[in-house]
Amino acid sequence: MNGPAAPRPGLREVGPYDSPQLEVAARLNTNECPLPLPVGFSDDLAAAVRELELNRYPDGQMRVLREALADRTGHGFDGVWTANGSNEILTQLLMAYGGAGRRAALFEPTYLLHRRLCWLTQTEIAERRLEPPFEIDDGAVVWAAAEGANVVCVCSPNNPTGNTQPLDAIGSLASRSEGLVIVDEAYVEFGGETALPLVAEHPNVAVVRTFSKAFALAGARIGYVLASPEVVEDLQRVRLPYHMSALTQAAGVTALRHADEAASGLDAIRMERDRIVRTLSGIEGATVFPTQANFVLFRPPGDAREIWQGLLDRGVLVRDLTSVVPNGLRVTAGTAHEVDLFLKALEEVLT
Ligand code: PMP
Repeated sequence: MNGPAAPRPGLREVGPYDSPQLEVAARLNTNECPLPLPVGFSDDLAAAVRELELNRYPDGQMRVLREALADRTGHGFDGVWTANGSNEILTQLLMAYGGAGRRAALFEPTYLLHRRLCWLTQTEIAERRLEPPFEIDDGAVVWAAAEGANVVCVCSPNNPTGNTQPLDAIGSLASRSEGLVIVDEAYVEFGGETALPLVAEHPNVAVVRTFSKAFALAGARIGYVLASPEVVEDLQRVRLPYHMSALTQAAGVTALRHADEAASGLDAIRMERDRIVRTLSGIEGATVFPTQANFVLFRPPGDAREIWQGLLDRGVLVRDLTSVVPNGLRVTAGTAHEVDLFLKALEEVLT
Protein backbone atom coordinates (compact mmCIF):
# COMPACT_ATOMS: atom_id res chain seq x y z
CA MET A 1 0.00 0.00 0.00
CA ASN A 2 1.28 3.49 -0.80
CA GLY A 3 1.45 6.24 1.78
CA PRO A 4 0.00 9.73 1.35
CA ALA A 5 0.77 11.33 -2.02
CA ALA A 6 3.57 13.87 -2.28
CA PRO A 7 2.41 17.37 -3.23
CA ARG A 8 4.24 19.76 -5.50
CA PRO A 9 7.82 20.40 -4.31
CA GLY A 10 8.01 23.17 -1.72
CA LEU A 11 4.26 23.18 -1.06
CA ARG A 12 4.55 22.04 2.54
CA GLU A 13 7.13 24.71 3.30
CA VAL A 14 4.42 27.30 2.75
CA GLY A 15 1.70 27.98 5.30
CA PRO A 16 -1.93 28.68 4.44
CA TYR A 17 -2.70 32.31 3.63
CA ASP A 18 -5.16 33.69 6.10
CA SER A 19 -5.63 36.36 8.74
CA PRO A 20 -6.97 35.53 12.18
CA GLN A 21 -10.76 35.85 12.34
CA LEU A 22 -11.31 36.21 16.05
CA GLU A 23 -14.44 37.17 17.93
CA VAL A 24 -13.30 40.46 19.41
CA ALA A 25 -14.95 43.80 20.13
CA ALA A 26 -12.97 45.57 17.38
CA ARG A 27 -11.79 43.61 14.34
CA LEU A 28 -9.41 46.05 12.71
CA ASN A 29 -7.02 43.69 10.94
CA THR A 30 -8.43 43.12 7.44
CA ASN A 31 -9.42 46.57 6.16
CA GLU A 32 -13.08 45.74 5.80
CA CYS A 33 -15.74 48.42 5.69
CA PRO A 34 -17.40 48.70 9.11
CA LEU A 35 -20.60 50.27 7.78
CA PRO A 36 -23.85 48.39 7.25
CA LEU A 37 -24.96 47.86 3.66
CA PRO A 38 -27.22 50.55 2.21
CA VAL A 39 -30.87 50.41 3.26
CA GLY A 40 -32.83 48.41 0.71
CA PHE A 41 -29.82 46.46 -0.54
CA SER A 42 -30.81 43.19 1.14
CA ASP A 43 -34.43 43.39 -0.04
CA ASP A 44 -33.33 44.15 -3.60
CA LEU A 45 -30.83 41.32 -3.50
CA ALA A 46 -33.43 38.89 -2.15
CA ALA A 47 -35.79 39.89 -4.97
CA ALA A 48 -33.03 39.45 -7.55
CA VAL A 49 -32.09 36.04 -6.13
CA ARG A 50 -35.72 34.86 -6.31
CA GLU A 51 -35.65 35.51 -10.06
CA LEU A 52 -32.54 33.41 -10.69
CA GLU A 53 -32.72 30.09 -12.48
CA LEU A 54 -30.18 28.30 -10.35
CA ASN A 55 -30.75 25.01 -12.17
CA ARG A 56 -28.91 26.63 -15.12
CA TYR A 57 -25.28 27.64 -15.33
CA PRO A 58 -24.76 31.37 -14.82
CA ASP A 59 -23.96 33.79 -17.62
CA GLY A 60 -20.32 32.94 -18.26
CA GLN A 61 -19.74 36.39 -19.69
CA MET A 62 -21.20 38.15 -16.62
CA ARG A 63 -22.81 40.58 -19.08
CA VAL A 64 -25.19 42.47 -16.80
CA LEU A 65 -22.56 43.03 -14.14
CA ARG A 66 -19.90 44.05 -16.65
CA GLU A 67 -22.31 46.42 -18.37
CA ALA A 68 -23.21 48.01 -15.04
CA LEU A 69 -19.51 48.43 -14.27
CA ALA A 70 -18.85 49.86 -17.72
CA ASP A 71 -21.62 52.41 -17.06
CA ARG A 72 -20.31 53.35 -13.66
CA THR A 73 -16.65 53.65 -14.65
CA GLY A 74 -17.04 54.97 -18.19
CA HIS A 75 -14.74 52.19 -19.37
CA GLY A 76 -15.71 50.17 -22.46
CA PHE A 77 -17.53 46.87 -21.83
CA ASP A 78 -14.92 44.83 -23.71
CA GLY A 79 -12.27 45.99 -21.28
CA VAL A 80 -14.24 45.10 -18.15
CA TRP A 81 -13.94 41.66 -16.52
CA THR A 82 -15.15 40.39 -13.16
CA ALA A 83 -14.26 37.56 -10.79
CA ASN A 84 -14.65 36.31 -7.24
CA GLY A 85 -12.83 39.09 -5.45
CA SER A 86 -9.91 41.03 -6.81
CA ASN A 87 -7.73 38.20 -5.54
CA GLU A 88 -9.15 36.03 -8.28
CA ILE A 89 -8.64 38.79 -10.85
CA LEU A 90 -4.99 38.98 -9.77
CA THR A 91 -4.72 35.21 -10.00
CA GLN A 92 -6.13 35.19 -13.52
CA LEU A 93 -3.80 38.02 -14.57
CA LEU A 94 -0.78 36.13 -13.26
CA MET A 95 -1.94 32.91 -14.88
CA ALA A 96 -2.23 34.72 -18.20
CA TYR A 97 0.83 37.01 -18.06
CA GLY A 98 3.12 35.28 -15.55
CA GLY A 99 3.79 31.58 -15.28
CA ALA A 100 6.82 29.32 -15.43
CA GLY A 101 9.88 30.95 -16.97
CA ARG A 102 8.37 34.43 -16.66
CA ARG A 103 9.03 37.15 -14.16
CA ALA A 104 7.07 39.67 -12.08
CA ALA A 105 8.50 42.85 -10.57
CA LEU A 106 7.24 43.71 -7.09
CA PHE A 107 7.83 46.84 -5.04
CA GLU A 108 8.02 45.84 -1.40
CA PRO A 109 6.49 46.24 1.09
CA THR A 110 3.19 45.58 -0.63
CA TYR A 111 0.11 43.37 -0.52
CA LEU A 112 1.43 39.98 0.50
CA LEU A 113 -0.81 38.12 -1.89
CA HIS A 114 1.03 39.46 -4.93
CA ARG A 115 4.09 37.49 -3.89
CA ARG A 116 1.97 34.53 -2.98
CA LEU A 117 0.27 34.45 -6.38
CA CYS A 118 3.65 34.56 -8.11
CA TRP A 119 4.57 31.46 -6.16
CA LEU A 120 1.24 29.83 -6.98
CA THR A 121 1.61 30.50 -10.69
CA GLN A 122 5.35 29.68 -10.68
CA THR A 123 6.20 33.21 -11.73
CA GLU A 124 9.72 34.26 -10.79
CA ILE A 125 9.93 37.36 -8.58
CA ALA A 126 12.19 40.38 -8.96
CA GLU A 127 11.75 42.64 -5.96
CA ARG A 128 12.79 46.14 -5.08
CA ARG A 129 12.41 47.43 -1.58
CA LEU A 130 11.04 50.95 -1.28
CA GLU A 131 11.90 53.07 1.75
CA PRO A 132 9.55 55.66 3.30
CA PRO A 133 7.61 57.40 1.80
CA PHE A 134 7.45 54.16 -0.24
CA GLU A 135 7.07 55.92 -3.59
CA ILE A 136 8.07 54.48 -6.93
CA ASP A 137 10.74 56.94 -8.09
CA ASP A 138 12.76 57.18 -11.31
CA GLY A 139 15.30 54.68 -10.00
CA ALA A 140 12.55 52.15 -9.37
CA VAL A 141 11.11 52.70 -12.87
CA VAL A 142 14.51 52.19 -14.47
CA TRP A 143 15.03 49.08 -12.35
CA ALA A 144 11.69 47.55 -13.42
CA ALA A 145 12.44 48.19 -17.09
CA ALA A 146 15.93 46.69 -16.76
CA GLU A 147 14.47 43.58 -15.10
CA GLY A 148 12.51 42.95 -18.28
CA ALA A 149 9.57 41.81 -16.17
CA ASN A 150 6.53 40.28 -17.86
CA VAL A 151 4.34 41.61 -15.08
CA VAL A 152 4.86 44.69 -12.91
CA CYS A 153 2.73 44.88 -9.77
CA VAL A 154 1.83 48.28 -8.39
CA CYS A 155 -0.56 48.82 -5.51
CA SER A 156 -2.07 52.28 -5.06
CA PRO A 157 -3.02 53.18 -2.37
CA ASN A 158 -0.52 50.60 -1.26
CA ASN A 159 -1.32 47.97 1.32
CA PRO A 160 0.19 48.06 3.96
CA THR A 161 1.84 51.49 3.72
CA GLY A 162 -1.26 53.50 2.70
CA ASN A 163 0.52 55.85 0.26
CA THR A 164 -0.46 56.26 -3.37
CA GLN A 165 1.92 55.99 -6.31
CA PRO A 166 2.43 58.96 -8.64
CA LEU A 167 0.51 58.53 -11.89
CA ASP A 168 3.49 59.65 -13.92
CA ALA A 169 5.59 56.88 -12.35
CA ILE A 170 2.93 54.33 -13.32
CA GLY A 171 2.79 55.83 -16.83
CA SER A 172 6.59 55.56 -17.11
CA LEU A 173 6.50 51.96 -15.92
CA ALA A 174 3.95 51.26 -18.66
CA SER A 175 5.93 52.96 -21.41
CA ARG A 176 9.29 51.56 -20.37
CA SER A 177 8.30 47.97 -19.60
CA GLU A 178 7.01 45.54 -22.13
CA GLY A 179 5.13 43.59 -19.49
CA LEU A 180 1.65 44.07 -18.06
CA VAL A 181 1.50 46.75 -15.38
CA ILE A 182 -1.11 45.68 -12.83
CA VAL A 183 -2.37 48.54 -10.69
CA ASP A 184 -4.14 47.14 -7.65
CA GLU A 185 -6.61 49.85 -6.63
CA ALA A 186 -8.43 47.96 -3.88
CA TYR A 187 -8.52 51.14 -1.76
CA VAL A 188 -8.85 53.82 -4.42
CA GLU A 189 -12.32 54.94 -3.29
CA PHE A 190 -10.79 56.16 -0.02
CA GLY A 191 -8.28 58.46 -1.67
CA GLY A 192 -5.77 59.02 -4.41
CA GLU A 193 -6.04 59.23 -8.14
CA THR A 194 -7.00 56.29 -10.27
CA ALA A 195 -4.66 55.02 -12.98
CA LEU A 196 -7.68 54.30 -15.20
CA PRO A 197 -7.00 57.20 -17.62
CA LEU A 198 -3.65 55.55 -18.40
CA VAL A 199 -5.32 52.48 -19.90
CA ALA A 200 -6.38 54.31 -23.08
CA GLU A 201 -2.80 55.35 -23.81
CA HIS A 202 -1.10 52.24 -22.44
CA PRO A 203 -2.86 48.99 -23.36
CA ASN A 204 -0.44 47.21 -21.02
CA VAL A 205 -2.03 48.76 -17.91
CA ALA A 206 -4.68 46.81 -16.00
CA VAL A 207 -6.53 48.48 -13.13
CA VAL A 208 -7.83 46.03 -10.53
CA ARG A 209 -10.58 46.93 -8.05
CA THR A 210 -12.82 45.29 -5.50
CA PHE A 211 -16.27 45.45 -3.92
CA SER A 212 -14.75 44.26 -0.62
CA LYS A 213 -13.72 47.61 0.81
CA ALA A 214 -15.67 50.75 -0.14
CA PHE A 215 -18.73 48.72 -1.23
CA ALA A 216 -18.82 46.92 2.15
CA LEU A 217 -19.20 43.61 0.36
CA ALA A 218 -16.17 41.55 1.35
CA GLY A 219 -18.46 38.60 2.05
CA ALA A 220 -19.77 38.49 -1.52
CA ARG A 221 -16.32 38.14 -3.16
CA ILE A 222 -16.50 40.47 -6.16
CA GLY A 223 -13.59 42.09 -7.96
CA TYR A 224 -13.03 43.52 -11.41
CA VAL A 225 -10.41 44.70 -13.82
CA LEU A 226 -10.50 47.63 -16.22
CA ALA A 227 -8.06 47.03 -19.02
CA SER A 228 -7.73 46.79 -22.77
CA PRO A 229 -10.00 44.30 -24.59
CA GLU A 230 -6.92 42.17 -25.37
CA VAL A 231 -6.28 41.63 -21.67
CA VAL A 232 -9.89 40.60 -21.13
CA GLU A 233 -9.65 38.16 -24.02
CA ASP A 234 -6.58 36.62 -22.42
CA LEU A 235 -8.36 36.27 -19.09
CA GLN A 236 -11.11 34.33 -20.83
CA ARG A 237 -8.45 31.80 -21.78
CA VAL A 238 -7.39 31.07 -18.20
CA ARG A 239 -10.58 31.41 -16.20
CA LEU A 240 -12.54 28.37 -15.08
CA PRO A 241 -15.85 27.85 -16.87
CA TYR A 242 -18.66 29.83 -15.20
CA HIS A 243 -16.27 31.02 -12.52
CA MET A 244 -18.71 33.58 -11.12
CA SER A 245 -21.94 32.25 -9.69
CA ALA A 246 -25.30 33.78 -10.60
CA LEU A 247 -25.69 34.67 -6.91
CA THR A 248 -22.46 36.63 -6.88
CA GLN A 249 -23.29 38.37 -10.14
CA ALA A 250 -26.68 39.38 -8.75
CA ALA A 251 -25.03 40.74 -5.60
CA GLY A 252 -22.67 42.83 -7.73
CA VAL A 253 -25.43 44.26 -9.90
CA THR A 254 -27.52 45.09 -6.83
CA ALA A 255 -24.53 46.71 -5.11
CA LEU A 256 -23.96 48.93 -8.13
CA ARG A 257 -27.57 50.10 -7.95
CA HIS A 258 -26.84 51.28 -4.42
CA ALA A 259 -23.32 52.49 -5.12
CA ASP A 260 -23.98 56.17 -4.44
CA GLU A 261 -25.46 55.41 -1.02
CA ALA A 262 -22.50 53.16 -0.20
CA ALA A 263 -20.08 55.90 -1.25
CA SER A 264 -21.81 58.43 0.99
CA GLY A 265 -20.52 56.60 4.08
CA LEU A 266 -16.88 56.83 3.06
CA ASP A 267 -16.32 60.30 4.52
CA ALA A 268 -16.98 58.90 7.98
CA ILE A 269 -14.28 56.28 7.45
CA ARG A 270 -11.80 58.88 6.18
CA MET A 271 -12.52 60.96 9.28
CA GLU A 272 -11.78 58.01 11.55
CA ARG A 273 -8.62 57.26 9.60
CA ASP A 274 -7.45 60.85 10.00
CA ARG A 275 -8.31 60.77 13.70
CA ILE A 276 -6.12 57.68 14.11
CA VAL A 277 -3.26 59.42 12.27
CA ARG A 278 -3.59 62.57 14.40
CA THR A 279 -3.75 60.68 17.67
CA LEU A 280 -0.87 58.33 16.89
CA SER A 281 1.23 61.27 15.69
CA GLY A 282 0.90 62.74 19.16
CA ILE A 283 2.37 59.66 20.84
CA GLU A 284 6.01 60.15 21.67
CA GLY A 285 8.27 57.69 19.90
CA ALA A 286 5.56 56.48 17.48
CA THR A 287 5.99 56.73 13.70
CA VAL A 288 2.85 57.12 11.61
CA PHE A 289 2.90 56.81 7.83
CA PRO A 290 0.67 59.11 5.74
CA THR A 291 -2.25 57.20 4.26
CA GLN A 292 -4.98 57.64 1.67
CA ALA A 293 -6.55 54.24 2.31
CA ASN A 294 -8.90 53.02 5.08
CA PHE A 295 -6.04 51.88 7.31
CA VAL A 296 -2.98 53.28 9.01
CA LEU A 297 0.51 51.80 9.21
CA PHE A 298 2.45 52.80 12.30
CA ARG A 299 5.41 51.88 14.42
CA PRO A 300 4.50 52.01 18.08
CA PRO A 301 7.04 53.00 20.71
CA GLY A 302 8.08 49.62 22.09
CA ASP A 303 7.89 46.10 20.78
CA ALA A 304 5.11 45.85 18.17
CA ARG A 305 4.45 42.15 18.81
CA GLU A 306 3.93 42.72 22.52
CA ILE A 307 1.73 45.71 21.79
CA TRP A 308 -0.27 43.65 19.28
CA GLN A 309 -0.88 41.06 22.01
CA GLY A 310 -1.74 43.75 24.56
CA LEU A 311 -4.34 45.17 22.17
CA LEU A 312 -5.78 41.73 21.54
CA ASP A 313 -6.04 41.10 25.29
CA ARG A 314 -8.23 44.21 25.35
CA GLY A 315 -10.46 43.01 22.50
CA VAL A 316 -8.79 44.90 19.65
CA LEU A 317 -7.36 42.96 16.74
CA VAL A 318 -4.94 44.80 14.45
CA ARG A 319 -2.55 43.42 11.84
CA ASP A 320 0.93 42.42 12.90
CA LEU A 321 3.16 43.41 9.98
CA THR A 322 6.49 43.03 11.71
CA SER A 323 7.58 40.43 9.18
CA VAL A 324 7.33 42.97 6.34
CA VAL A 325 7.77 46.39 7.96
CA PRO A 326 10.14 46.44 10.94
CA ASN A 327 8.07 46.87 14.10
CA GLY A 328 5.02 47.74 11.96
CA LEU A 329 1.36 47.41 12.89
CA ARG A 330 -1.58 48.23 10.67
CA VAL A 331 -4.98 49.28 11.96
CA THR A 332 -8.15 49.55 9.89
CA ALA A 333 -10.30 52.67 10.23
CA GLY A 334 -13.45 51.20 11.73
CA THR A 335 -16.49 52.88 13.25
CA ALA A 336 -15.97 55.73 15.73
CA HIS A 337 -16.70 53.26 18.52
CA GLU A 338 -14.13 50.73 17.27
CA VAL A 339 -11.52 53.44 16.86
CA ASP A 340 -12.25 54.64 20.41
CA LEU A 341 -11.68 51.08 21.63
CA PHE A 342 -8.40 50.89 19.72
CA LEU A 343 -7.07 54.23 20.95
CA LYS A 344 -8.07 53.51 24.54
CA ALA A 345 -6.51 50.03 24.45
CA LEU A 346 -3.33 51.42 22.92
CA GLU A 347 -3.08 54.07 25.60
CA GLU A 348 -3.43 51.42 28.27
CA VAL A 349 -0.86 49.13 26.65
CA LEU A 350 1.64 51.96 26.36
CA THR A 351 1.35 53.12 29.95
N1 PMP B 1 -5.74 44.05 -3.16
C1 PMP B 1 -5.34 44.59 -2.00
C2 PMP B 1 -4.26 45.61 -2.02
C3 PMP B 1 -5.92 44.18 -0.79
O1 PMP B 1 -5.49 44.70 0.36
C4 PMP B 1 -6.94 43.22 -0.81
C5 PMP B 1 -7.63 42.75 0.44
N2 PMP B 1 -6.89 42.47 1.51
C6 PMP B 1 -7.30 42.67 -2.03
C7 PMP B 1 -6.70 43.11 -3.18
C8 PMP B 1 -8.27 41.54 -2.12
O2 PMP B 1 -9.54 41.93 -2.13
P1 PMP B 1 -10.73 40.95 -2.54
O3 PMP B 1 -11.53 40.83 -1.30
O4 PMP B 1 -11.41 41.70 -3.62
O5 PMP B 1 -10.18 39.67 -3.03
